[in-house]
Amino acid sequence: MTTRFAPSPTGRLHIGHAWSALFGSVLARTRHDDFLLRIEDIDIGRCRPEYITGIFEDLEWMGMEWPVPARRQSEHFVDYHNALRTLNARGLLYPCFCTRKEIADEAERSITAPHGPEGALYAGSCRGLSKAEQERRIAAGEPYAMRLNVKKAMEMSPVLTWVDIYRGSQKATPEILGDVILSRKGVSASYHLCVVVDDHIQGVTLVTRGDDLFYASHLHRLLQHLLRFNPPDWAHHPLLLDTEGKRFAKRNDSVTLQHLRNEGKTPHDIIQMIREGLPSNGPWQRLLMHF
Ligand code: GLU
Repeated sequence: MTTRFAPSPTGRLHIGHAWSALFGSVLARTRHDDFLLRIEDIDIGRCRPEYITGIFEDLEWMGMEWPVPARRQSEHFVDYHNALRTLNARGLLYPCFCTRKEIADEAERSITAPHGPEGALYAGSCRGLSKAEQERRIAAGEPYAMRLNVKKAMEMSPVLTWVDIYRGSQKATPEILGDVILSRKGVSASYHLCVVVDDHIQGVTLVTRGDDLFYASHLHRLLQHLLRFNPPDWAHHPLLLDTEGKRFAKRNDSVTLQHLRNEGKTPHDIIQMIREGLPSNGPWQRLLMHF
């Protein structure tokens, strides 16, 4: 069995990340699973090498261990492009030429536009374009993204379920995210696609991550089915909140592990701070006793 922590190196790790990393590592320890670290640096424009070094430095300081080298997404585009090709060959992707502005305007125009956890859902303007029209616009050099036709994908799939070990069995409802982008100019493979491919390739059997990505698991379950991957289980943890009840942000420098360390805090202090930020009920407090 294998769990993982998969940060994106777009800033220094903060105390919320420390909780997420500890969660994956402690769950692995208590279940005698392996724990992996993966660097999600697919968005080359936003990720920086010094933040990758920072991740290693901070997690080592916390006393964590993982097999080295940690997988880095930017070294595995071939795997993601193969998965895209598989989905495309099954007729499940379509090019979308809409700009962000056009999508926002469209959502604005129809006040009843359905909303998902990430905002207004894509209305599907490019879903019905003819093959000839798609080819003409691509040949003319118009930038485009590749979207998943979720309705078609669901029609081709049985009713899918997935298991969160704390919340039980869930019926997959990937339509809450609409026709997500799986590839676009600049970022040729999206988070949703890469995470599913990597967890499969790395043999992750328990996906450990924050509640903010709970909704994404519905889509990931569908992608796993379409790509014929065995589904893992999931364990989503509550997000750590500050004293005002807000989540920690990468741009808030004062809660980075680097800053706290420089202030003289010890890993033990960090665990105490995490304990204080977590809900007092639930299995969370007990988990931290194992660290
Ligand atoms: N890379 C994602 C992030 O930093 C987490 C991905 C995951 O755990 O599935 O938010």
